[in-house]
Amino acid sequence: MARECNERCGWFKMPEIKFTKLFINGRFVDSISGKSFETRDPRSGEVIATVAEGDKEDVDLAVKAARKAFDHGKWPRISGFERGRIMSMFADLIEEHLEELAILESLDAGKLHHLCKILDIPGSSNSLRYFAGAADKIHGQTLKCSGEFHGYTLKEPIGVVGLIIPWNFPSIMFHSKVAPALAAGCTMIVKPAEQTPLTALYYAHLAKEAGIPDGVLNVVTGFGPTAGAAISSHMDVDAISFTGSTEVGRLIMAAAAQSNLKPVSLELGGKSPLIIFDDADVEKAIEIAKRAVFFNKGEVCVAGSRVFVQEGIYDEFVKKAAESLKNWVVGDPFDPHVNQGPQVDKKQFERVLQYIESGKRDGATLLTGGKACGEKGYYIEPTIFTDVKEDMLIAKDEIFGPVMSLMKFKTIEEAIEKANNTIYGLAAGIVTNDLNIANTVSRSIRAGMIWINCYAAFDRNCPYGGYKMSGFGKDLGLQALDKYLHEKTVIVPLQGSPW
Ligand code: ADP
Repeated sequence: MARECNERCGWFKMPEIKFTKLFINGRFVDSISGKSFETRDPRSGEVIATVAEGDKEDVDLAVKAARKAFDHGKWPRISGFERGRIMSMFADLIEEHLEELAILESLDAGKLHHLCKILDIPGSSNSLRYFAGAADKIHGQTLKCSGEFHGYTLKEPIGVVGLIIPWNFPSIMFHSKVAPALAAGCTMIVKPAEQTPLTALYYAHLAKEAGIPDGVLNVVTGFGPTAGAAISSHMDVDAISFTGSTEVGRLIMAAAAQSNLKPVSLELGGKSPLIIFDDADVEKAIEIAKRAVFFNKGEVCVAGSRVFVQEGIYDEFVKKAAESLKNWVVGDPFDPHVNQGPQVDKKQFERVLQYIESGKRDGATLLTGGKACGEKGYYIEPTIFTDVKEDMLIAKDEIFGPVMSLMKFKTIEEAIEKANNTIYGLAAGIVTNDLNIANTVSRSIRAGMIWINCYAAFDRNCPYGGYKMSGFGKDLGLQALDKYLHEKTVIVPLQGSPW
């Protein structure tokens, strides 16, 4: 049931917030402590809903349910084809509820509503469809053994997995982990980010409707140091897949090492370079740079926030980049004419503004933006700094906001060296029409994803993951299945062998 929104804008109908409790063993339940927390609308800072706050005891219950569903339930035992069929029904239900889900996603995360409708929510159901199709194609290998043996491998679900999700793409990240884990036959505890719990709980409800058995998909909402840490240090969780900051990735890996040595996969931060060469079309390069830095208000792990422009076009690029932002609209993400919504919460908003201040203090030149905007909510102007030096904080740290650092270079070698001068290695972009430059640079950059003449283009068939301190393990692509599977080797003597 929808009640009429929103006196203020009228761009959408406010859905009733139906799911606010933990989802454990197929039921929505209060947290054991009875505690709850507020999730807020970043357009205003007002409370959208109060959500159950899970802690260690709730995680214990969820793990117990997932363990039982894994050890004795049907999900890991039915055919991959049947799992795929149920996952496809889950995808159908998401598409049926697209409107409501897209509203919740925009409300919770401040994401552009029209993009949630065409990207975030359909991208989520399509992840389920992609891995539904893979569920019956998970094969081991036949091994050629020396001697009189036959050897083969079996791919088996790894067990109970903990999936810890960030707030910048709550739906896409949820399904980029849940879909391959379901296809593999795992059972799971998902912890959405505390800033954006609403769509995850809705997905739990739809999973049950689709016929995913109780205990297979559990959602524990709550905070990182409590609920998240309880998952990563749990002795009965068999693997963790995490997306979030490098700092938290380190904690998760340590917790895994100190508990049961569960394998972890980490998709972490970045400070990705975008390198624009002299032969590029400047207008097109600017559009790519805007997509690289300002897409999703800069709250993007792969944000190409270090933009290196070759000296021959640098001045023209700077002038036209500033001009092109004059028509850029920051505002309510439900307004279809808006380019950029609010940062996710007050903490991020303040953090980004602090980085902007550090850029000013360190002597970078503010070309555009540089401050908050709007009367309320967490809006920040798209900001470009020139004269940025590589040792400034704005050139080194992941800002996770709409802040571009522009730097000049002369030669290909210099561009490669500067691009690689980072602790991170998540992604990079190259803008050139010269095939030799594109090939040389793409092979020389130590990052897991390279875009040539585009940026932040994803496809569910293209694996995605980092180098260096951006983590390891892949989301997307069939490779994403690997982290939810064990590969078991079986060796059998053939007739006539001495055994
Ligand atoms: P931040 O909110 O500071 O940007 P992250 O982006 O790294 O932090 O958070 C991503 C996810 O990791 C969220 O679901 C968060 O609750 C969770 N998390 C935070 N701290 C921990 C922790 N110590 N252990 C496990 N998960 C955590």
